[in-house]
Amino acid sequence: MARLFGELAEELSSAQRSGLRRRPVTVDAIHGSVAQIQGRAVVCWCSNDYLGLSAHPRLIDAATQAAQRWGIGARASRLLGGTSLWHARLEEALAAWFGAEAAIVYASGYLANLGTLSALLSPGDLIVADRLVHASLLDAMRATRATVRVFRHQDVAHAADLLARDSKAQRRVIVTEGVFSMDGDCAPLAALSEVARARDALIYLDDAHGAFVMGATGRGSPEAAGIAHDRFLYMGTLGKALGAQGGFVVGPRTLIEFLHNRARPFIYATALAIPVAAAAREALCVIEQEPQHRRMLDARVARLHAGLPRRQAPAAPSHIMPVILGETSRAALVAQRLWERGIWAPAIRPPTVPRGTSRLRLSVTALHTDEHVDALAAALRECLADA
Ligand SMILES: *Cc1c(COP(=O)(O)O)cnc(C)c1O
Repeated sequence: MARLFGELAEELSSAQRSGLRRRPVTVDAIHGSVAQIQGRAVVCWCSNDYLGLSAHPRLIDAATQAAQRWGIGARASRLLGGTSLWHARLEEALAAWFGAEAAIVYASGYLANLGTLSALLSPGDLIVADRLVHASLLDAMRATRATVRVFRHQDVAHAADLLARDSKAQRRVIVTEGVFSMDGDCAPLAALSEVARARDALIYLDDAHGAFVMGATGRGSPEAAGIAHDRFLYMGTLGKALGAQGGFVVGPRTLIEFLHNRARPFIYATALAIPVAAAAREALCVIEQEPQHRRMLDARVARLHAGLPRRQAPAAPSHIMPVILGETSRAALVAQRLWERGIWAPAIRPPTVPRGTSRLRLSVTALHTDEHVDALAAALRECLADA
């Protein structure tokens, strides 16, 4: 044991020397988008609570009432201990929201990716994935033991070529995100679905950052691209724009029932906590009835985009705005200077993003005020000029 811990300590110091050691900071309180950390108030630009629902009174009420009647924990996995009314209602609501026959909820989005891909694919199958897909997808793809080929980010022709080269594979799946988590750009879904059709492949669409935000009514990246959800194996999380926790997949009933039988994180993990399921379902009602949260988010995104230094402003802005700074040391320096001005926008470094592309990842939410946006834009202009 002592030797093992010695080796671990050495790895941590080596990460420290290259500026890559990370530590979670303790947040003492959070109100809106302002966090209290180490006795200071800082405006948080690193929350995925895009619509500001995590502290919405209706979600809090729904969770409180469910907790009073049902308690907290789900007590068992759902095959063993049964499905609570709240899980059933949540899945019905998700299926209806995306116009699908059925939905399956997992305890997290990470587990949704892992459980779904590894249930559907095995050696002999082919996965063609965008180079920048999320770590949960990388882990899920590895777990399938299928052949995995990677295409250049957003390069549809490259994806088509990889599919064409391997004509013997049995099941063929293109894996992409709707809105990329570290870059904020949108996948070319129309072109990818043409390729999928021509090459007899499915598209597994991880819309963790697009669901409930993108599209005229929040139906996600397919709606924004004008394509029906049933062209995709559609996955999302309840932990980001919905302000709760958990992950889901929607689709035909046969697919969902198959996953009940084969998806290991569904079978072998305790179900989502009941108050969380109740809150997630309430969040769906809230976004249906209160489109103002999405409109507010759009307004903040536009305002920040207009205020960014031109060189840093992405051509097509979304609620995730990367400020790419290159070397880890530069990203850390800019993050530090912003912190000193009361702005919490941590540096994102390898291995989360490729080497040489360390960045700030600004996530805009409906809770930011115009003043927060303007202060961030001004601070960025100053800090980037001399860093
Ligand atoms: C956050 C995220 C996940 C995981 O979802 P959780 O519910 O947080 O486990 C999956 N895919 C992408 C692209 C993500 O950004």
